[in-house]
Amino acid sequence: MTQTWDEEYDVVVIGAGGGSLTGALVAAREGLKVLVAEATDRFGGTTAYSGGGLWWPNNQALKRAGVEDTPEAAAQYYHGIVGDDSPRELQEAYLAGGPALVKYLEDNGLMEFLIYPWPDYFGKEPTAHNEGGRHMMPMYFPAEEMGDLRDQVRSGLPAERRGEPLPDMMIGGQALIGRLVLNLSKEPNVTMRRNAEGRKLIMEDGRVAGVIVSIDGQDKAIKATKGVLVAAGGFEQNQEMREKYGVPGHARDTMGAPRNFGLVQQSAIELGADTALMDQAWWSPGLTHPDGSSTFSLWFTGGIFVNNHGERFVNESWAYDKLGRAIIDLVDEGRMTLPYWMVYDNRAGERVPCNATSVPMVETEEYREAGLWHTADTLEELADKIGVPADKLVATVERFNEFAANEKDEDFDRGGEAYDRSFSEGKSPLVPITEGPFHAAQFGLSDLGTKGGLKTDVDARVLDTGGNVIPGLYAAGNSMAPASGKVYPGGGNPIGSSMVFSYLAALDMAKN
Ligand SMILES: Cc1cc2nc3c(=O)[nH]c(=O)nc-3n(C[C@H](O)[C@H](O)[C@H](O)COP(=O)(O)OP(=O)(O)OC[C@H]3O[C@@H](n4cnc5c(N)ncnc54)[C@H](O)[C@@H]3O)c2cc1C
Repeated sequence: MTQTWDEEYDVVVIGAGGGSLTGALVAAREGLKVLVAEATDRFGGTTAYSGGGLWWPNNQALKRAGVEDTPEAAAQYYHGIVGDDSPRELQEAYLAGGPALVKYLEDNGLMEFLIYPWPDYFGKEPTAHNEGGRHMMPMYFPAEEMGDLRDQVRSGLPAERRGEPLPDMMIGGQALIGRLVLNLSKEPNVTMRRNAEGRKLIMEDGRVAGVIVSIDGQDKAIKATKGVLVAAGGFEQNQEMREKYGVPGHARDTMGAPRNFGLVQQSAIELGADTALMDQAWWSPGLTHPDGSSTFSLWFTGGIFVNNHGERFVNESWAYDKLGRAIIDLVDEGRMTLPYWMVYDNRAGERVPCNATSVPMVETEEYREAGLWHTADTLEELADKIGVPADKLVATVERFNEFAANEKDEDFDRGGEAYDRSFSEGKSPLVPITEGPFHAAQFGLSDLGTKGGLKTDVDARVLDTGGNVIPGLYAAGNSMAPASGKVYPGGGNPIGSSMVFSYLAALDMAKN
């Protein structure tokens, strides 16, 4: 049967996160006619929730700021931690693509950047950048510059999940999405659609010729003469798919955008696309809230994590993905169960000593009523309330207090690398637990999104199970099998990768 088409473009971009919008912008500026199809009623995806951090070593903005680094040092670091979990050439494409994209965006007046030092997440690697010279963010700008377009951008988590007022400044992920949406609004050959969900890819003569998009509830066949770019996030919100591919954690606890269901990735798989690392996500510890969700939390200013045995099990100041992975491994090995607890004293009050709960905490009383937060005058009593052996908890805290006094964690080396100390002004992050009353808050496992997906080549072209390119199909970000394999090399890798591979996809489509 010959396919009839409702609309025709050169490029159809599925999704409107940081990567997809970058791909759309580059494709449009390279002269292509572009449709952006976004499933939800807002542009931005998980990227709009984010800090907007970008990990692109050796780019021109970092160099202008005087950051000392070399491509060889960055490559040694990246290859050293990723290893063989992704093809070496994909890793190289990412490392080379960051500086090229910064040049493209800056030279075309599309984006300004703010240098924001943030240490690499494996600080003990020989060429880790512990001064944070591989990380930056888009420059913030006043929200009023967005005009009516502001309402089309997905809000940050405090506004979306807690109804907090929208800030006057576009910062972090908001600035990134805001700037991209503003730029795209000036491109005459771009159509931006919300409530437009990509459902099924259409193959014709051995190439992906288009895609069925449900627009305001009606299926439309959209032709893409140059290609379809799937930068539609991961499948973190799809519990069935999580179970099928064995992704630890639960859709309830993910931070991914609400329609990140993996629909087009599934269609690609049905057409023969290959996948890799489908059980992987960007993980983190999650503070458990009264609604039952455990959400991404970092920047602990005190406290220790204890498991169901009343014992510490990890360096609590590690980067979030390393923490999440340690928890998954220990649960798998049968050495602990979920949930676990943060135990802390009253020196800063009864609230959890965490400066960055991506979803703000509600009233203390609500956590108490939900049985999530407990307080007691003694550690023995506290242990009783959270159901862990009292003698163990007392011994754990005593041992930790000795470490704190000596500023040396002999069990887990908390404070042993730069990132561990980045929230305590470079000093020891070990805060003793001595000033009663004592508190405990429940934690679970959260994620920032899944990261396994469609296998691609270095131009983001999707590969089939025989290793051949599927013409007309591209993938980037959490929709593609990640260059970063099973690690989170440093803040800014997820979005950095989504933007770089979308940019490479757009260039490839323009070239052909
Ligand atoms: C609080 C927080 C802070 C973070 N900070 C950082 C940071 O500073 N730096 C960093 O690199 N990472 C950060 N992350 C992680 C990062 O935000 C995500 O991993 C990343 O944004 C994913 O990008 P993406 O382009 O793959 O997908 P997304 O940004 O999620 O975009 C995917 C888009 O596709 C749409 N979509 C999905 N399915 C379809 C479909 N079938 N049809 C049409 N549209 C569809 C979605 O609605 C969404 O808009 C953070 C995450 C959180 C939650």
